[in-house]
Amino acid sequence: MRQHLVAGNWKMNMTYQDGLALVSEITNMVADEVSGPQAPQVVICPPFPFLHSVGKLLPQGSRFYLGAQNCHQKEGGAFTGEISPKMLASVGCEYVILGHSERRQYFGEDDELLSQKLKAALAAGLTPIFCIGESLETREADETFDFLAKQLKDGLFHLSNEEFDKVVIAYEPIWAIGTGRTASSAQAQEVHAFIREQIARAYDAEAAQNTTILYGGSANAQNARELFAQPDVDGGLIGGASLKSRDFTEIIKSF
Ligand code: 13P
Repeated sequence: MRQHLVAGNWKMNMTYQDGLALVSEITNMVADEVSGPQAPQVVICPPFPFLHSVGKLLPQGSRFYLGAQNCHQKEGGAFTGEISPKMLASVGCEYVILGHSERRQYFGEDDELLSQKLKAALAAGLTPIFCIGESLETREADETFDFLAKQLKDGLFHLSNEEFDKVVIAYEPIWAIGTGRTASSAQAQEVHAFIREQIARAYDAEAAQNTTILYGGSANAQNARELFAQPDVDGGLIGGASLKSRDFTEIIKSF
């Protein structure tokens, strides 16, 4: 179901204590300041060791959901140091970020592995937030659309209609992540509309219209409103600005 959604990806930041304090501040501010039909669902994606406690702080039945930043592709077994989707579900996670460019770049995650992770996450009842995005080199070579079409085809469009229905897509241009260089709202809209076109081709027009597509990459309290006003931008996947309660709350209010 297409919806307004803001997800905070903390990446490898915060201590347990600072993280819990941040979540308390955010939930209090949002309870006081955010309401109405435009108000988004909010997904908090802290590091693994904080998940359970952060989940306990999210008011039951509220707009807040718990998400993880990654998962393993197997249900369980001898994989020292890994975390399965089933474990995530058992601590209250409903979302999991998959295919983030940092996972692709630093941990060698490719489309084949990500296909397995997607399947495993869906099988455990998690909603994947599947990330795609081009590098600066690709954009400057004018190959953005070919590149994104391939990432979608190889990484995502192997899913059945029923599986695809449950996926959220995040467009995160690598050149905009953590750089302070946001995609312009026109650039974001152009790519989001292109993603919908690709979905319509791979599935159908209804699937394209029903998919939630987030923008990520130096989104902040100043630029969120303009980004979210674009017809094909349904919300944001927020890194740095999700670590500050005031900034994150401002972004949540930007619809
Ligand atoms: P920044 O918002 O820090 O640019 O990070 C975006 C991101 O990678 C979210 O997943």
